[in-house]
Amino acid sequence: MPDPRDTLNASMHRWPAACLAAVMAVVVWIACIAAQPAPYDLVLRNARIVDGTGSPWYRADLGMRGTTIARIAPSIDEPALRTIDVGGEVVAPGFIDIHTHAARGIFQIPTADNYVRQGVTTLIEGPDGSSPVPLGPFLAKLEALQKSVNVGAFIGQGSIRSRVIGEVNRTATADELQKMRGLVEQGMKDGAFGLSTGLFYVPGTFTPTDEVSELAKGAGRFGGIHISHMRDETSRVLDSVNETIAIGERGGLPTQVTHHKVIGRPNWGKSVETLQAVDAARARGVDATIDAYPYTASSTSIQGALFPAWAQEGGRKQVLARLADPAIRPKIKAEIVRVIRNERGGGDPKNIVVANCDWDASLAGRNLSEVTERRGLSPTLEDAAEAAMWLVESGGCQGVFHAIGEEDLERILRHPATMIGSDGEIPTFGKASPHPRSYGTFVRVLAVYARERKIITLADAVRKMTAFPAQRLGLLDRGLVRPGMKADLVVFDPARVRDLATFEKPHQYAEGVSRVITNGQVVFEGGAMTAARPGAVLYGPGRSSGRR
Ligand SMILES: [Zn+2]
Repeated sequence: MPDPRDTLNASMHRWPAACLAAVMAVVVWIACIAAQPAPYDLVLRNARIVDGTGSPWYRADLGMRGTTIARIAPSIDEPALRTIDVGGEVVAPGFIDIHTHAARGIFQIPTADNYVRQGVTTLIEGPDGSSPVPLGPFLAKLEALQKSVNVGAFIGQGSIRSRVIGEVNRTATADELQKMRGLVEQGMKDGAFGLSTGLFYVPGTFTPTDEVSELAKGAGRFGGIHISHMRDETSRVLDSVNETIAIGERGGLPTQVTHHKVIGRPNWGKSVETLQAVDAARARGVDATIDAYPYTASSTSIQGALFPAWAQEGGRKQVLARLADPAIRPKIKAEIVRVIRNERGGGDPKNIVVANCDWDASLAGRNLSEVTERRGLSPTLEDAAEAAMWLVESGGCQGVFHAIGEEDLERILRHPATMIGSDGEIPTFGKASPHPRSYGTFVRVLAVYARERKIITLADAVRKMTAFPAQRLGLLDRGLVRPGMKADLVVFDPARVRDLATFEKPHQYAEGVSRVITNGQVVFEGGAMTAARPGAVLYGPGRSSGRR
């Protein structure tokens, strides 16, 4: 077989010189066109840019090419495939949510409407010590998913301990510690942004501080951070903040108090001391930061929130066995009564609301006092504890717990080292009674805490949602409106943006966000999601090279 290239060469030798010259002219002409700046793919005109740094807004046009912000100028008149006049609305970096449970919903609803309609373009999973182990296959599955938002993840210490040691209360052997550290490091190589802990939950609660610090070193070695749902957010919240700081200090890595709050009326006001502890740590060079959501209620499982850790050891089978044991049940009940009185219950079973029970949809939205009465009991703390144990025995439920003080919330939000994180998920619209944070966190900060109460400025609120979490995660190409940065953008009306989701009616989308752009493509406009699915998987600093 003759090589076809030889044939081509041979035939070109036979072309007349004039013909060759013409071909060359065409080649030069094409090269010239290629050298011309291509038109912009998308231009936003007449924007008030809040750039993420915390600086006040400025007026400009913004041009994008591909996935990137190409130019910002007072006026951009060059051709563009599409030009949108945003009419003086705010253009800010897309919001980055550093604490989400996005795995609850992202594969069913890859448009993540509840988040995008608030202006969120990046969701970080794997918080509270809980993540898939190993992380690699989960991230690969996310890569294959056509989605509207970017997604990244932490590797979870609780999940790793559960896999290596189980849900038991004992210290790790040297061999187990080595195995766990290996899994942390594997998580970092797979692309985690760091190590998350949930020292409040089983089995995180069985982990001594030194063990966490050892694992944190593994994450720090790859440039990761430590982020913690702390051991105690009630009477010992200050000890817990100090523990979180110590883990950062001993582990040699940045450390973050996640969804910082103070639970239980007797503890309200303790944020004065917790924030002082963070300030003191930072003053001596410890890179300690905070995230928070703007609500006075928390949400987690009823069992996790109300049951003592010792009663949860070993998993569900053992929990049920303890509840069935007449010698142990009263001890669990006494602890639940205490927690309802002084901690998550805020002193009244009415403050505990069922968010979702898989086994009985009719319970969603009912408070523990109502559930107790429905059981034919009186709404005392003791009987409410009985009803809570019944909920767990019947299959378990998620709950919403109203026990956070507004003053603590505002003090924490105002702190310069606090960023915004929702702790939310991607709910099925209209199903169950989830915490409204999934629908409203970011716009609620903009509307209630920036515009109405002026706790922080609009520019600072945006900083806490963009450049600050980007810096924390090491996302150097997002979180700012600057040429060269990825074009994740939100367009909103600062006078009109607000949350509509309430505890009573959580399934309500945010208002006032007019457009959201992820990686240069419009994913939301005109009140609806578009067909574009430009979301990317984002990887932490330890990601093995060459596989991206
Ligand atoms: Zn948490």
